[in-house]
Amino acid sequence: MDHRYWINTVREPPLKRLVLLGAGHAHLIVLREFAQSPPPDTELVVISPSRWQYYSGMLPGWIAGHYRLEQCRIEVEPQVSAAGGELILDRAVALDAEARKIRLHNGRQVDYDWLSIDIGSGSNLADLKGYDDPLISVKPIDRFQAQWREFEEQCQTTGAGHLVVVGGGAAGVELAMAAANVVRHNHQGGGRVSLIAGDSGPLPGFNALMRRLAGRKLVRRRVTVIEQRAAVRDGKLQLADGTRLKAGPVLAATGAAAEPFLKDSGLAVDEEGFVRVSACHQSLSHSNVFAVGDTCSREDGALNRSGVHAVKAGPVLAGNLRSALVGADLKPFRPRRYSLYLLACGDQTAIGSYGPLTFFGRWVWRLKDRIDRKFIEGFSAG
Ligand SMILES: Cc1cc2nc3c(=O)[nH]c(=O)nc-3n(C[C@H](O)[C@H](O)[C@H](O)COP(=O)(O)OP(=O)(O)OC[C@H]3O[C@@H](n4cnc5c(N)ncnc54)[C@H](O)[C@@H]3O)c2cc1C
Repeated sequence: MDHRYWINTVREPPLKRLVLLGAGHAHLIVLREFAQSPPPDTELVVISPSRWQYYSGMLPGWIAGHYRLEQCRIEVEPQVSAAGGELILDRAVALDAEARKIRLHNGRQVDYDWLSIDIGSGSNLADLKGYDDPLISVKPIDRFQAQWREFEEQCQTTGAGHLVVVGGGAAGVELAMAAANVVRHNHQGGGRVSLIAGDSGPLPGFNALMRRLAGRKLVRRRVTVIEQRAAVRDGKLQLADGTRLKAGPVLAATGAAAEPFLKDSGLAVDEEGFVRVSACHQSLSHSNVFAVGDTCSREDGALNRSGVHAVKAGPVLAGNLRSALVGADLKPFRPRRYSLYLLACGDQTAIGSYGPLTFFGRWVWRLKDRIDRKFIEGFSAG
């Protein structure tokens, strides 16, 4: 046998390029799985605008002064290199699903064979546009943490003023109670916190006991709860009953908004612009595209937007990406019937719920602290 001939004709199979867009919760899990066992014949590329992935569950604890920011974030690059991938530090600004191309903020184009999208969501600021004073939006978190530090510095110099948190969901309630620590420490400026919780009041969708406990705790933490909607009129905040609020900075923890470029991408999206996916997290329009976490909209409506679901979907997504690359069958991600929700109250107590069960106290905060720290530690080097 002529070995020269053999060497010349046997070729490596061409590499398929898998792009993970965003280093959100689910993609961090995918990277951890790929680090254990990389998919064969695949060039892995990860696109993230930040070196850090912030863990939102610990953010209220950072605001309340219980954690340093470094304790609440995961460094993306070591996760990518452990999985044998290349990290591109930039933000996607456009996607052409037909041409299989992503355009980045710096103008570079990235081609892909397979794409998985985990870019989270922004805040829906439609009602708050045009606000005269600083509008601090909790999403994207990398910008938020810089804005919050500025606010804290301002508190030290000119006093806290009246901070208004808009959004009665779990994030708004936690942020208002955490912010009460900052504002109270700086009370020389007459600081106070109000929570505009919308018509249904705080924590719609949670059970009655949890809502009652949270309501009591908000009072004890001296947060004024306003059960109305608010919108900006002539640069000021105005409640639905016409009252104009005297407020300083507004912290927006309003509902999720999809990245605007998704609706022009050619991918099937829902009426709010989130990527429509099957239970296997595969795009309904493009079989080479997957989406997960806040950025997706499941056709079976089985998921609400939460970090818990994004994390739990991670291993299934990793398996499905691996299967898709070799043409094997995909598996659905079926969330558990109940999820554990733990709401930090800013004073090292927490309120928790699991289905019909509700519990509260210092031990609940300790439980949350342990779970959150363990999650971060799972991604630390070494
Ligand atoms: C204050 C607060 C507290 C919360 N607490 C909890 C909690 O205790 N439990 C819970 O279950 N949920 C909680 N949530 C909800 C939770 O944060 C989200 O549901 C979760 O982060 C969604 O994860 P994800 O992977 O979809 O996206 P994310 O975790 O938001 O990650 C998205 C990533 O994509 C990147 N990205 C964004 N745009 C682009 C782009 N154009 N190109 C490339 N990359 C991009 C971002 O930088 C980010 O790294 C909380 C939310 C907030 C605001």
